[in-house]
Amino acid sequence: MASTDVSATTAEELSGLFLRELRLVPEWEKIKACIQCGTCTASCPTSWAMDIKPREIIGLFRARRLDKVLRSNTIWICASCYSCVVRCPSGVKVSDLMYALRSVGIKRGLFPKGEKYPALAQAFAKVVDKYGRNAESEMLTRFYLGSNPLGLGKQLSLGFQMLRRGRLALLPKGIRGREDIGKMMAELEREDRG
Ligand code: SF4
Ligand code: SF4
Repeated sequence: MASTDVSATTAEELSGLFLRELRLVPEWEKIKACIQCGTCTASCPTSWAMDIKPREIIGLFRARRLDKVLRSNTIWICASCYSCVVRCPSGVKVSDLMYALRSVGIKRGLFPKGEKYPALAQAFAKVVDKYGRNAESEMLTRFYLGSNPLGLGKQLSLGFQMLRRGRLALLPKGIRGREDIGKMMAELEREDRG
């Protein structure tokens, strides 16, 4: 799995890439209205485990310190619960900002050393691209093969138990209109390259 090497990408490249991602977020300009009140951090159920709190992420982004943001575990720990968005007095879309940051991190292979969430996000995206929905057994297989092949062996007995109890489907099921999802993904990839 790739590790963090923010120095391999210039600050300008990172800012440009991130701004392109951010502009896909509706009302993204509200980030400029952040008053650093800390309500997002106080509302966040996972902030205790973050090395940089949500309020600081907004401040660092505005200070053009994307390098520091991408080295943090915060964007990978965010549970996308939207509590921060609901409570923010300035209407800042904090969770959407986290998604935009994750996308930049994955595209450039910039994330904290040993962090497993990026591999999970990549495995999830590949499976959804293939079937139009998640397929847990394939996603977990891809995740372990990409991040920790030995870990796959340790999870096999748990996987068998879940299969026996009907908690895990062995064969993935696709959705109707899967080709349309493929077209959307291909279009997004074209935009990324353009
Ligand atoms: S709650 Fe909103 S305004 Fe307050 S620090 Fe967080 S993002 Fe900024
Ligand atoms: S969306 Fe993420 S940052 Fe916002 S409150 Fe939930 S876990 Fe925290």
